[in-house]
Amino acid sequence: MRIDIVTLFPELCDSFLSASILGRARAKNLFEAHCHQIRDYTTNKQKQTDDYPYGGGCGMVLYAQPIADCLREVQRQCAEQGRAKPHVVFLTAAGHPYNEEAAKRLAQYEAVTLVCGHYEGIDERVIEAFGDEEISIGDYVLTGGELASLVVADSVLRLQPGVLAEEKGYQEESYWDGLLEYPQYTRPEVWEGRAVPSVLLTGDHQKIDAWRGQQSRTRTRLRRPDLYEHWCDTHPLTELPKWKRGENMRLVKTEEQWDVAARLFAEGRHDVCKDVCTPLYLDTLTPEHCREELQSERQNGWAFYLHSTKNEADGMVGVCHKTGQISHLFVTSEARGRGIGSKMLDFARKKLAEYEHPTLTVLDTNTRALALYRRMGWRPAGVEAVYDPADDPTAAVYCQELKLRYEAQ
Ligand code: SAM
Repeated sequence: MRIDIVTLFPELCDSFLSASILGRARAKNLFEAHCHQIRDYTTNKQKQTDDYPYGGGCGMVLYAQPIADCLREVQRQCAEQGRAKPHVVFLTAAGHPYNEEAAKRLAQYEAVTLVCGHYEGIDERVIEAFGDEEISIGDYVLTGGELASLVVADSVLRLQPGVLAEEKGYQEESYWDGLLEYPQYTRPEVWEGRAVPSVLLTGDHQKIDAWRGQQSRTRTRLRRPDLYEHWCDTHPLTELPKWKRGENMRLVKTEEQWDVAARLFAEGRHDVCKDVCTPLYLDTLTPEHCREELQSERQNGWAFYLHSTKNEADGMVGVCHKTGQISHLFVTSEARGRGIGSKMLDFARKKLAEYEHPTLTVLDTNTRALALYRRMGWRPAGVEAVYDPADDPTAAVYCQELKLRYEAQ
C-alpha cells in the first residue's frame, strides 16, 4: 500500500511514520509513505498558501491550486508505479465520523492520499474536484488535519499484512468485531493490593475466553450502547442449532419432574444472582423454596418445560399463556455452549404463538442471556424493576431488571 499525506507540516507527519511499529514496517517496505509540502506547489512569488475567505469572516482559507497540483503529482507518481489512481480523503471536522469499519475499507486501496487542512479549512472547490470522501476523526475541532491524517494512516497501515507481528493482534482488539476489548493485565499478580482476576491464572482457555467475551459485551453495553445495539443487530442468531437425537422438551407434570425443575431453577437463579444479591438472599434459593414458587406460578397460568439430553435434565423454561411471558430459562453450567438456551427460547416463543410480541425480563448483569435474547430478535421494552442496595436488603449491587419484547427478525 502507498499512503501520501498532503500537508503544510510534512516533517511532522514523516517523523511519526518513521517511529516505532510503523517505522520498522516502513523500513522493511511493508508500505510506502510520502509526505508532501503544499507550499512547494504554490505559483505565487511569496509561496503563500492561503487567503481571506470570500464573504468575510475570521481566519484564512487554503488555496485550491497548490493542493490540486500536489494531488496531480501524486496521481502521476502512482501511475508511473503502475498503481491504481489513489483514493483521496480530505480530513475535515465536517466529514464522516471515522471508525474501524472505515479503516478496514481504506486498507483495501492500493493507494490512499490524505489531505490536511489548516486555518479555517480548504477552498471547497478542490474538495469537490478531487475528494473521494471527507473524514472527521471526532466531534471536536483541531488546528490542522495532520493529527487526523496520522490517526487514519496509523489505523489503516497497522492492518497491512506483516505490520503487526500477528494478524490476531488486531482481530482481538476493540471495534474489530464491533465490541470493545476486555480488560488486560500483566505482571505482577497483585499490584498495590489489586489482584488480577483469578480466572486468568487458571490456564483454562475455554473459561478465559468465556470471561473475556462476557467482559467485552458488558463493557460495550455499558460504555457504548450504540455499538452494542449495532453488534446485536449485525450478529443475529437466525440459524438455530439443530435438535439432536436423544434431546427433548417435556411439560413438567409428575412429582419427579417438579423436583427436577425446582433443582434447576434454584441452581439457575443462584448462578444469575450470585454476583448481585446478598448471601442472605442466596441462602433462600433452596430447591424446596423454588418448588413452592413454581407451584404458585403454575396456579397463575404458568407452564414449565424441562429440556433433557439422553434422559438427563439440563435446562428449563416457563411460559405464561395468560400474559404472554417467558421466564426461568436456565441451562445447567455443564450443558452450556451447546445451543440449548436458544433452542428452548425458540420453543417457548412458539408455544406462545397467540402472542405476536411475547415478553421476558432479564437482569442487566446477565450479559450472556442478554446477548442471546438480543441476537434472537428480542428488543428492550423498558425497565421492569430496579434493585438498589440502598433500599433493597436482597441487593448487593445496583442492577436493573430489563423487559424485552420479541420483534420478528
Ligand atoms: N472551519 C472548520 C470547521 O469549522 O469545520 C475547522 C477548520 S480546522 C481549525 C482546520 C483543519 O483541521 C481542517 O481543515 C481539518 O483539516 C482539520 N480538522 C479539524 N478538526 C478535525 C476533525 N475533527 N477531523 C478531521 N480533521 C479535522
